[in-house]
Amino acid sequence: MSMGNTTQNPETAFVDKRALKGALLNRGRFVFHSDLNNFYASVECLLNPELRGHPVAVCGSCEQRHGIVLAKNDIAKKYGVKTAEVIWQAKKKCPNLVTVPANYERYSFYSHAVRKIYSDYTDKVEPFGADEAWLEITGHRDVHSFDEAKMLADEIRNRVYLETGLTVSIGVSYNKVFAKLASDYKKPDATTVFAPESYGSIIAGLPASDMIFVGKSTEAALSRFGVHTIGQLAALDDNFVCAVFGKNGMGLVRCARGEDTSAVVPESESEEIKSIGNSSTSFRDLESNDDVRMMCYTLSESVGARLRRHGLKCGTVQISIRESDLKTHEHQIRLATPTDSTRVIAEAACTVFASVYNWHKSIRSIGVRACNLTDADAPRQLSVFDADEKRDERLRKIDSTVDSIRNRFGSTSLQRAVVMCDSRLTGACVKGDF
Ligand SMILES: [Mg+2]
Repeated sequence: MSMGNTTQNPETAFVDKRALKGALLNRGRFVFHSDLNNFYASVECLLNPELRGHPVAVCGSCEQRHGIVLAKNDIAKKYGVKTAEVIWQAKKKCPNLVTVPANYERYSFYSHAVRKIYSDYTDKVEPFGADEAWLEITGHRDVHSFDEAKMLADEIRNRVYLETGLTVSIGVSYNKVFAKLASDYKKPDATTVFAPESYGSIIAGLPASDMIFVGKSTEAALSRFGVHTIGQLAALDDNFVCAVFGKNGMGLVRCARGEDTSAVVPESESEEIKSIGNSSTSFRDLESNDDVRMMCYTLSESVGARLRRHGLKCGTVQISIRESDLKTHEHQIRLATPTDSTRVIAEAACTVFASVYNWHKSIRSIGVRACNLTDADAPRQLSVFDADEKRDERLRKIDSTVDSIRNRFGSTSLQRAVVMCDSRLTGACVKGDF
């Protein structure tokens, strides 16, 4: 960089005056925001090559009862398919739309695989949903300039693609707000750098509503004062902003000036996941303890597998019962020792159920949730009963064998006898969440 005016700091010589303070506050800082492109739809296209080249929508459930679009690929986007619209509406715009059910297990797997790559570059990774994350790159040994930051971002993009088959867009900037703005700027599969020098030429001209935290109502309020761009927002007078929009408004204006100095807050795995649950709506109502048992086992399979994959155990098992009139209630049971065993979780769920439900009504759906999570290798009190230890060890072996077979051959390759009694129940759409 050449020296502009000798009275100016050379690092900020070309910075728009609205962004000067922000550039100084964040001097020497490099923040990435990484965003997996069309995440759910990309994972489905990756795992089902026959979907590629077709408009694809991932749906909450592909049945009539509650089918809405959760995510779509770029081809479906071109037809005007929108997130959260119902399937039949989407199909009216795009008759050959291929709908696939959401498979949260898969997305969670890829989400963690990608975060693991990030963690090779910094221990400060702050996830934002399943598909986005901020990375604090400040202090990285190879990064002393925005050119070097861009090279590192390109390397991360390459690795994510080579190792997972997914593409990400990465925004590189000097604070979190502008890093996010940058990752949205160019999609898919791109790196965008918003250095302080890009303020006047690009950032200031972007719509204020592109900025995180600016929702529909804020956008409307701002436009009543003729504020449409980030630059216009940044140029507002502080006293005016305080009087009209208050403290929150002032925070927004500071962000627009690049004065966001908030830290990238890493989240450890066990903090991030508070509980792991799974619920389902089957094709018919549940009518008996046997039905419930079958369902509890089906749901516990994925709850247990997810616990094991994350290296967690649960101390409490919670069930939710949704009756045919949609009244829902929850019950829980504390386990003697934390577990990640599918069978222990399923049996606990059945036990609670049997103790609280009297079949005055049939059941629409049931949920199983593992709560009170701890690290699997955290020290724990040893059971005083030798028999328990032996049983636990045996169950662990069964679970890990089942996991590895399913990882190789798919989740339905191996089923417990108990869940095979009625495929109309257990073949139903099972949805996971965090
Ligand atoms: Mg995304």
